[in-house]
Amino acid sequence: MKNAKDESFRPADALGDMSAEEFRRYGHQLVDWVADYLSHPERYPVLSQNQPGDVKGALPAAPPAAGESFDAILKDLDRVIVPGMTHWNHPAFFAYFSNTGSAPGILGELLAAAFNVNAMLWRTSPAATELEEVTLDWLRQMIGLPESFSGVLYDTASISSLCAIAAAREAAPAGKLRLYASEQAHSSIEKSAITLGLGRDATRAIPSDAEFRMDAGALAAAIVEDRAAGYQPFCVVATVGTTSTTSIDPVPQIADLCEREGLWLHVDAAYGGSAAVLPEMKWILAGAERADSLVLNPHKWLFVPVDLSVLYCRRMDVLKAAFSLVPEYLRTSEETVRNYMDYGPQLGRRFRALKLWFVLRYFGVDGIAARLRHHIEMAKEFAAWVDGSDDFERLAPVPFSTVCFRAYPQDLRARAGSEASGADVEAYLDQLNERVMEEVNRRGKVFLSHTKLKGKFTLRLAIGNVRTMGEHVRLAWDELNAALQKLDAESRPAPSKG
Ligand code: PLP
Repeated sequence: MKNAKDESFRPADALGDMSAEEFRRYGHQLVDWVADYLSHPERYPVLSQNQPGDVKGALPAAPPAAGESFDAILKDLDRVIVPGMTHWNHPAFFAYFSNTGSAPGILGELLAAAFNVNAMLWRTSPAATELEEVTLDWLRQMIGLPESFSGVLYDTASISSLCAIAAAREAAPAGKLRLYASEQAHSSIEKSAITLGLGRDATRAIPSDAEFRMDAGALAAAIVEDRAAGYQPFCVVATVGTTSTTSIDPVPQIADLCEREGLWLHVDAAYGGSAAVLPEMKWILAGAERADSLVLNPHKWLFVPVDLSVLYCRRMDVLKAAFSLVPEYLRTSEETVRNYMDYGPQLGRRFRALKLWFVLRYFGVDGIAARLRHHIEMAKEFAAWVDGSDDFERLAPVPFSTVCFRAYPQDLRARAGSEASGADVEAYLDQLNERVMEEVNRRGKVFLSHTKLKGKFTLRLAIGNVRTMGEHVRLAWDELNAALQKLDAESRPAPSKG
């Protein structure tokens, strides 16, 4: 039986929403919960220690027929949901791209949920449309793109790139279309081509050089070869900050080629683009001013909560031509305004710009720059520890805040030099590094992920969390060394004789 004095108990015949009193009470309680959580996310293991099915098993299979008290819901938040969380807010979350939101961004999300507007047309919420125009123009200035670029918000870089490639197709002559991206490009590019119905054959992967940058000469040769074979090249995607190593494609050379060949140039700066806020990092977007479109994800490395991705485009008319379809019931009389529904596949749109506005205003350009600079400095310091260690080696340059490396105990290096044991040593290193990563992650203080570079199992440490400080990066280094010592001693293969 429910306690009749429990104010949060709602009789089954009550209509309308939660009362304002109740909302205030639980709202304050939840804000306190979030403030405590954000102050100490490290009290939880960073990687959820759940087994598959733990959350499902702890919840009823059928929905509650009668409303429940908010207290009961909050209890289950702690009991069921929190243990099933991998804590992206944890300052020692270094896996993938270690993005975080930030407190002002969270408050922006709260307000966006409260307003709950559908920003499809200017008139369905003028503030949502115009704040999107204003904040994206601020961000454009921050990263140094020219005024000829205009922005539009989507949820993810995958969708931003999909829309850019749809625009590229709109501008392309008819034919058997081909798109080019480096072998290091994010899978969302090939997925976009598939989603647009161009097929897997429509994407050609261009080799990268020793530093994982697209080989512009190989791109030029591929275009010539494809034209001769009857393909219609239409788009090149250059990446500034590739997913595995954060390498930077030679955008100026690629832009020259695109201009010569009449191809749409899309720049995927989903992760790396944010760094261009720093005066000393502006060089990373050299050539991007000549691109047709560019994607940057403030939810990756600009402290805006997931999801918020910006597509900048120099040819908004083409993007609009690719997507605009206005049925009678959505026709409006305002002529000089932007109706953002015309620039993508979705009609309904969240008020995403609000959280970006909060973040940009609360931290300011200088505050954001200081945090990005700190991340880059910490990554360079970690890279220096790797370089100075006898037991680790670095596997890629570090232009941003991500380090690619692996354990490589010193005495194995001499053995790897002999042809007889080189392959054995490589196989051992792959297995050793995978086990080191798993051991570090199992201990729960630090979370790392991996990639493969030139066939080698590679550990990645990505810094992007607004709460990460030097002590957390040091902890990652200590955890790696401890795991290596334990595992290498256990599993070292005997040296081959002779
Ligand atoms: N582009 C790059 C370079 C990425 O690293 C990623 C994800 O890590 C994406 C695109 C896809 O991002 P999203 O998850 O926003 O679709």
